Amino acid sequence: MLLKQALKKLNKIQSSSWPKIYGKRRRCIATTTTTTTTPSAVPKERVDCVVIGAGVVGLAVARELSLRGRDVLVLESSPSFGNSTSSRNSEVIHAGIYYPPNSLKATLCVRGRELLYKYCFDHNIPHRQLGKLIVATRSSEIPKLNHLMDCGIQNGVAGLKMMDGSDAMRLEPELQCIRALLSPVSGILDSHSLMLSLVGEAEDNGATFSYNTTVMGGHIKENRMCLEVFETKCLENWDLGFPSQPDMVLVPNLVVNSAGLSAPVLARRFGGLHNSFIPPSYYARGCYFTLSSTGVPPFKHLIYPIPEEGGLGVHVTLDLDGQLKFGPDVEWINGVDDISSFLDRFDYSVCTSRAELFYPEIRKYYANLKDGSLQPGYTGIRPKLSGPGQSPVDFIIQGKDIHGIAGLVNLFGIESPGLTSSMAIAEYIAARFL
Ligand SMILES: Cc1cc2nc3c(=O)[nH]c(=O)nc-3n(C[C@H](O)[C@H](O)[C@H](O)COP(=O)(O)OP(=O)(O)OC[C@H]3O[C@@H](n4cnc5c(N)ncnc54)[C@H](O)[C@@H]3O)c2cc1C
Repeated sequence: MLLKQALKKLNKIQSSSWPKIYGKRRRCIATTTTTTTTPSAVPKERVDCVVIGAGVVGLAVARELSLRGRDVLVLESSPSFGNSTSSRNSEVIHAGIYYPPNSLKATLCVRGRELLYKYCFDHNIPHRQLGKLIVATRSSEIPKLNHLMDCGIQNGVAGLKMMDGSDAMRLEPELQCIRALLSPVSGILDSHSLMLSLVGEAEDNGATFSYNTTVMGGHIKENRMCLEVFETKCLENWDLGFPSQPDMVLVPNLVVNSAGLSAPVLARRFGGLHNSFIPPSYYARGCYFTLSSTGVPPFKHLIYPIPEEGGLGVHVTLDLDGQLKFGPDVEWINGVDDISSFLDRFDYSVCTSRAELFYPEIRKYYANLKDGSLQPGYTGIRPKLSGPGQSPVDFIIQGKDIHGIAGLVNLFGIESPGLTSSMAIAEYIAARFL
């Protein structure tokens, strides 16, 4: 649905339901059925909540806000939901082991996992609690494994068990390791089904989705963030010049900038938001190779090596059809310019020659991997806030208390475990900013 249709639908819902629910719901829309114009004739609309980006996090936020009685408009630059990082990941429900205690990543991952399993169960979203083994293949890795166990315990992850290599290899006969940490609560899910369900539930609660709609920036007027919105098709040949005026200016009570890889560059285009609040962005590609079909997959659990800089290491993931994939690796790349970023013009090709780097990594724990058995899979890009050689940075969820702008929430650096944490991020935003 395009923006004007979306607003028409939103306005129709508002005008027809306003008398019934006014006072019961926390509705604070100033203009509902009329469109005002700025002096430069750009239509201007007041709306309640705008979520920028229909990835899994934006969708979870839209669902949560709509369940709490708010009118939600989701703006997504691409023709559908979940086309970016949310459909280019390992689809693993993480336990919450890797992240420093009390960090947002730790607390939102643990809470998000609980919410996600319950949601998947209640809404028939395909998922499986497979369990995961994090493996040490050299004695020098054992202290790191012990550290992960301590961290997981402090984060409240239940059921963690340190195993001797021989016990782990009895559980997984194709595995080679000298010690392993078993995490029984880790699992996998069908992320597309999850996102479809979140969209459906949000829509059932009155949220409206405007696809092919790009937020190009914003400015502050009367202490409110005004969003400058374009139809994506007007931007497609932007290097040849694009309209100097937006198709519409939206004036929301609450804006959640959930634009994933683009969130920081978009925030830089919010006039009035000081640059010092916007962290530097880094991008780390991660590609996957699938195991050519061998009948029965060699592993029943998720198998992870000790984490590497920038990622969790080239691990084994199964999807719900039993297809086994390896990845993602870490390849630091430069960003693209801001408009290309909004249009998701990142390089998602899989470089087949990287398979040569995968074989030795995988053979550290799966020595029987046959030559020629890896097929190119797909690539995702991590929206990182720390670069090569730097310590990992926590999720940033930033509201007025930090940047001083009422009604603006920025989500920065929502890399892994963002899928697992999505529903907890939504809960956190609703609790903190509504
Ligand atoms: C390789 C890899 C593996 C991962 N594995 C896991 C895992 O196993 N488990 C896990 O929990 N997490 C994992 N993650 C992390 C997880 O995928 C992300 O945290 C999550 O998908 C982020 O969702 P999002 O909604 O924030 O962003 P996105 O999915 O990127 O959505 C952002 C949306 O915003 C839209 N957009 C951008 N700019 C604009 C604009 N200006 N106007 C309008 N719309 C705009 C984009 O088109 C996009 O649809 C992984 C990530 C990667 C890269």
